[in-house]
Amino acid sequence: MADPKQVTLVFQRTNVLAQAAPSHGTREAHSNEKVRPPPTVADRGFLCKELYRSVVAEGVTSCDVLVVGAGPGGGNAALQCARRGLSTIIIEDHKEIGTPVHCGECISEIACQNLNLDLPEEVISKRVHGIRVIFPDGTEKCLSEEGYVLEKHLFERWIVDEAVAEGASLHLGHKLQSMDRSGGSEFEGWLCQGKGDGFPILAKIVIDASGVAAVCSKLVQLEDELPLNPQGKVVAGMQYEMVGVPTDGYLDFYIWPEYAEKGYLWMIPKREGRANVGLVTEDRPRAKKSLDEFIENTHFKELDQVLPPWKEKGNPAFGGTIPISGPFENTYFDGLILVGDAAGFTSPLFEGGSHLALKSAVFAAETAAAAISDGDLSSERLSEYQRLWSNEFPPYDKIIRGKNALFDLTDDEMSLMGRCFPDEMGSMGISGKAMVGVRLLMKRPGLYFKSIVPAMLAFGYSRAKYYGW
Ligand SMILES: Cc1cc2nc3c(=O)[nH]c(=O)nc-3n(C[C@H](O)[C@H](O)[C@H](O)COP(=O)(O)OP(=O)(O)OC[C@H]3O[C@@H](n4cnc5c(N)ncnc54)[C@H](O)[C@@H]3O)c2cc1C
Repeated sequence: MADPKQVTLVFQRTNVLAQAAPSHGTREAHSNEKVRPPPTVADRGFLCKELYRSVVAEGVTSCDVLVVGAGPGGGNAALQCARRGLSTIIIEDHKEIGTPVHCGECISEIACQNLNLDLPEEVISKRVHGIRVIFPDGTEKCLSEEGYVLEKHLFERWIVDEAVAEGASLHLGHKLQSMDRSGGSEFEGWLCQGKGDGFPILAKIVIDASGVAAVCSKLVQLEDELPLNPQGKVVAGMQYEMVGVPTDGYLDFYIWPEYAEKGYLWMIPKREGRANVGLVTEDRPRAKKSLDEFIENTHFKELDQVLPPWKEKGNPAFGGTIPISGPFENTYFDGLILVGDAAGFTSPLFEGGSHLALKSAVFAAETAAAAISDGDLSSERLSEYQRLWSNEFPPYDKIIRGKNALFDLTDDEMSLMGRCFPDEMGSMGISGKAMVGVRLLMKRPGLYFKSIVPAMLAFGYSRAKYYGW
């Protein structure tokens, strides 16, 4: 049940419902209206129709779609909604978009094609040729496919700028803190409150693109008063920017459990010899120490750590957490759609999430536009969203099984598997995979019982066409 304190309304703007669509093209909302005493809202967080009408008449900003969060998922959701003619507001907790960066910053060419992204030069840091997997004994095997390392904060700003150019309204420094159903027995939208003078906002549909915070999953409750989705498991990701890093244009992914438990380490090259050197690990408390040890014990020791260009001072390490429980059980609800990390969409083996966030945003906008046009915002109508993403995204359970099987192997077994792979893993067909399996089992028959086949397939599912990056 919603906390009654949270449903108190503070009037800060004077918009009439019919005129209240966000002003197209504005980057920031302005609001210096006098604050009026708040009305009290009772009864399980529902606004009764009369109160709802008066609230709207007196100063709530209304829109078709409110997008929460301006990462890749939110930026693209706002862009796709605005392109479909929906009045769209996008809010972002931070005062600027894209920083602090919490991403290795790579995206595949296949992702860009799939999303019709024509990247401007300034958001591209480096063109790359694929992933090189480095097994514990140093064996190197490639998954070649073209892609980019981005200046991710510039990429995110570019997408949001495109959304604004299409008519979306952006509110920076706005944090969603509560949501209440409006419309009485027939659902008519969400009345959203939070930090920032653009609130309250009444949206027919909210698209939650708040990343790992998954804010709407906490704010919205099911009938049994449980949250829409329980908090999932996360892993820690951390990296440094280093300079003078040698590269042949591949992303180097080290599967070295000694430093990254059930995770991996990376060197992601950027322009002018810069690179992100980092790791993702299930051992969250040791993440920084393990990364420092890895650098100390490898050729990276000779190189300099620098602050990334978007950071002026402070600790050079940057990163964040990544959801690893898979897609949430409820990715839609009455007037609500969850995208990107907020829906648990990340690729399990190497934890890429931008491609999935950007694509789920397309499905969300498509579903929202159709539902609004039909005048049906119900959960049932929005279930279309789940049908779209589940038909498209790779089978999470299968990849998780492969990932678990991989991490059940000892370092020695992983290296043996690496040695049995061809130099180019990306071009293995069914017969190629069978050959690797036979070769492996001949050398170490006991591996049959360690689900070596799913472990091998997990690499295949890390390719771009399966939303790996
Ligand atoms: C260290 C690291 C490395 C990674 N490397 C890669 C990689 O190389 N390639 C890749 O594809 N993926 C990578 N990922 C994953 C990728 O960063 C995420 O999957 C992707 O950013 C998800 O996008 P999103 O839009 O769903 O969420 P986010 O990018 O997290 O954006 C969510 C936004 O919502 C805002 N927000 C949160 N709560 C609120 C609120 N209450 N109100 C308003 N705004 C709010 C946040 O401030 C944030 O800006 C990496 C992740 C980490 C941590």
